[in-house]
Amino acid sequence: MLWVLTSAAAVMFATTVLSFVVCALAWKRRSFPGGATLPLLLLAVAGWSLVAGLEAAFVPLEWKIFWSSLEYLGSGATGVLFLWFAAKYSGHDRWLRGRRHLALWIPTAVALALAATNVQHGWIWKDFLPGPKGSNSVIYIHGPAYFVVVAVVYVYIVTACALLLRSAFRAGVPRRRQTVTVLLAAALPVVSSVLYMIRPGLLGGLNVVPASFLATVIVFVLGLGFFRVFDLVPVARHALVERMPDAILVLNTEARIIDANPSAVTLLGLDDSAVGRTASEAIPAWPHLGLACSQQEERHVELTLSDDPLRYVDVRVTPLYEAGPRGVGCLIVMRDITKRYEAETALQQANEQLRSHVRQIEKLQGELREQAIRDSLTGLFNRRYLDETLPRELARASREAGIVAAIMIDVDHFKEVNDRRGHREGDRLLSLLGALLREHTRPSDIACRYGGEEFLIVLPGASVEAARVRIEEIRREYALRLRTEGFAEPPTLSAGVAVFPTHARSDDELLRAADDALYRAKREGRDRVRIAAETGDTNPNFDAGDPESGAEAGAP
Ligand code: GH3
Ligand code: MG
Ligand code: MG
Repeated sequence: MLWVLTSAAAVMFATTVLSFVVCALAWKRRSFPGGATLPLLLLAVAGWSLVAGLEAAFVPLEWKIFWSSLEYLGSGATGVLFLWFAAKYSGHDRWLRGRRHLALWIPTAVALALAATNVQHGWIWKDFLPGPKGSNSVIYIHGPAYFVVVAVVYVYIVTACALLLRSAFRAGVPRRRQTVTVLLAAALPVVSSVLYMIRPGLLGGLNVVPASFLATVIVFVLGLGFFRVFDLVPVARHALVERMPDAILVLNTEARIIDANPSAVTLLGLDDSAVGRTASEAIPAWPHLGLACSQQEERHVELTLSDDPLRYVDVRVTPLYEAGPRGVGCLIVMRDITKRYEAETALQQANEQLRSHVRQIEKLQGELREQAIRDSLTGLFNRRYLDETLPRELARASREAGIVAAIMIDVDHFKEVNDRRGHREGDRLLSLLGALLREHTRPSDIACRYGGEEFLIVLPGASVEAARVRIEEIRREYALRLRTEGFAEPPTLSAGVAVFPTHARSDDELLRAADDALYRAKREGRDRVRIAAETGDTNPNFDAGDPESGAEAGAP
């Protein structure tokens, strides 16, 4: 008889069928980290239970040995894929990238080869004893290689369990439920395989290890698919980080990149080999990134990422701590703020332009104000300005018991200059006289062009004597200056001086008194200064009678 369907074989075949069913289910619900590995793991379990079932069903010893050999492929693949799943699920799958994962398969390949060549060395099986009568089973007496192979598979399984537990303990919200579920799921293959190794005959020689893996996967698929125990935290976080528009970079204490999300890869133009390299190597644009990270303090800066095209990045560096004060690295979150920066710059430029316009307008306004109060030919104040300021000056002097002198000046026979030398030269003469008057007045004085060739100087605080000295000075300087300017016989100047409140009690009176004095000077022969007649009362608020007697200053 070649084979007989024993109950052990039936259990195995049932496991195979169930594994395929769950495989289909798991394939549908593979949208979580490591999810695509579960169907593969189930295929391995299906294959393993199938060959274990065939081993239990076949009668001839050489067939049993053949199927037993293939069991090493099934159990090896299950161990590798379980570890693979755990690594992906917990996010520790970096070391699986590239061709490194191929190393995981080496023990399985060696075990298969040793089982196939067992007749030569007996390292896997030393002997085969018949099982209990009527059970169609064989008791395998194992050689040394078997224990090595088993130890390796255990290392895989225990590592996988540790990774799953670690990720379960790290997760947030439904922590307890999740931890218990993962514990149960991970414990099943460990407990069952330990039992099978210590007491192989416990269940009549039935190998329940493949079935226990199946149970583990079922717990996971149910947990993920129906109860959604696991997907809340790790899946959400994974999706969040992967799809985040912000670039995320994680560096370890040696400033090596240990994680970078797709946004970071795009923003920084990282290549496949960036993870594992130092930040300064992978991102030459920022040689100081590693340094910022090593300082273990929260940082927030805005940097230029590249000059062409100009790109600005907002960078936040947050130190990461595992447990205790020692840092384990840092998290760098970057946001492309080029658009915002450009908008801000455009706004700044617009503001600057606006400010410059305002400055220009203010300057023009100033110029307009100046033009409104200045005489264009001489640069002296005009009559309008005098009308505004003279009452103010007198009011102040009145308040403070001060005095204000006024000197009215007229160019003698000016008409002759125009007639003889032309209007242009007449203008030049007036302009030179204007400059001279400006030079001989203080900022607090008011020098203005009162009429055609008539000028008025208001000297707050000046007495009759001080005003007289000042006009004599001007007359002297005028004669000299005009000669040097090409006027061989410059027309002389006549002037009249009046002082508030000595000679007048109001602005009109002051101007009239100065004017009267001037015309007295004219009448008396020109080229001289005359002082207005005193009112006889120094109180500016008191209206006294008509002053006529005049003090005089002789012609030079
Ligand atoms: P007097 O000694 O009596 O003051 O004789 P005068 O010739 O100076 O006086 P008059 O009032 O007869 O003539 C003043 C002249 O001043 C007449 C006018 O053409 C001239 N004048 C007034 N304003 C200006 C000006 O802005 N430029 C020029 N070139 N001449 C002016
Ligand atoms: Mg004149
Ligand atoms: Mg005149």
